[in-house]
Amino acid sequence: MQLFDTRSGDLRPLITGHTVRLYVCGITPYDAAHLGHASTYVMFDVLIRLLEHRGHRVRYVRNVTDVDDDILRTARERDVDYRTLAERETAAFDRDLRALGCRAPDVAPRATETVPAIVTAVGGLLARGSAYALDDGRVYFDIASAHDFGRLSRLDRDRMLEQFAEKGGDPEASGKRDELDFLLWQPSGDGEPRWPSPWGDGRPGWHIECSVMAMEHLGGVIDIHGGGSDLVFPHHEAEIAQSEHLTGQGPFARFWLHTGMVGLDGEKMSKSVGNLVFARDLLDRFEGATIRAYVLAHHYRETWSHSDDDLQAACDRVKRWRAAATGDGSDATMEQTLLRCLDNDLDTPRALAALDRLADEGHGESVRRMATVLGLDLGNDLTA
Ligand SMILES: [Zn+2]
Repeated sequence: MQLFDTRSGDLRPLITGHTVRLYVCGITPYDAAHLGHASTYVMFDVLIRLLEHRGHRVRYVRNVTDVDDDILRTARERDVDYRTLAERETAAFDRDLRALGCRAPDVAPRATETVPAIVTAVGGLLARGSAYALDDGRVYFDIASAHDFGRLSRLDRDRMLEQFAEKGGDPEASGKRDELDFLLWQPSGDGEPRWPSPWGDGRPGWHIECSVMAMEHLGGVIDIHGGGSDLVFPHHEAEIAQSEHLTGQGPFARFWLHTGMVGLDGEKMSKSVGNLVFARDLLDRFEGATIRAYVLAHHYRETWSHSDDDLQAACDRVKRWRAAATGDGSDATMEQTLLRCLDNDLDTPRALAALDRLADEGHGESVRRMATVLGLDLGNDLTA
């Protein structure tokens, strides 16, 4: 099986032990899951199912970023405790993903439960000289100590600065050695949750949370780290820098997998643009298998746009597969063809075309077996 590794920039064979350690960045639970989230987690669910079909055991960790600026702001706006908001949105997210046929992760660590370990990690980075503390309680990672900062994203400094500012960074903040140095620890604002630390009561920066949760549950070197491509910079770039400094070994992740963005009318779907298509709204109109088939008709690295026509086509397709799945015939060669498509960097569009052929030729048993690998509920056993 080969996958496209963002860090090396090419397709590489995935060679792992029996257990594959997978970390996928989870959601920040302050709003409902949109189609972009759904698409990312469906793609990783297919990867997990394929690896298991190939005989591996997958240890899947997906975190919940349950304390950050967005949650705290939204909680304030809605006059609700941030923990209540996070709890409610996490439950809704889990419900939506279940409806899409996605398995729950083995561990779903929450940032708020990980703070003591994060404090230890920040202390470790300071002791190694790769971080510095300011008098006001902020602690920054010193990117001058990371020899290959920028290797994952391949962005020049101007683009890095642009994205850093866009995605919650603080390039202009006073006292920093480099504008791109990122927060590891910060003092909490009025009314914000706070935890004790040697640098004063405060809360962690976003990036260090994922590094610590990944290392706590998967060890210092993980096989596959994934997420949406909007997380490449600065989030994943920062994770690499701080994790490899903490463990003193590399690589932190042997493969970096990133899913393309989903747009609407040619624009990236985002809360700030206000053009979100929520998974829940689609699930009110279509069954989970239809939305899943709709997502899988795109390659995971592709950037694509939501289209009601394509969704309707997926609905018709699922009906054909379901009708065929009641039959008995099988075609081992075509099943192998389908699996080889998935082995080739998860080529789901081609795999679905192979499923079409199996259905058209009346190989019901094969349709059921392959639908299980793809996580499509056609009346087959999805837990197989
Ligand atoms: Zn993350």
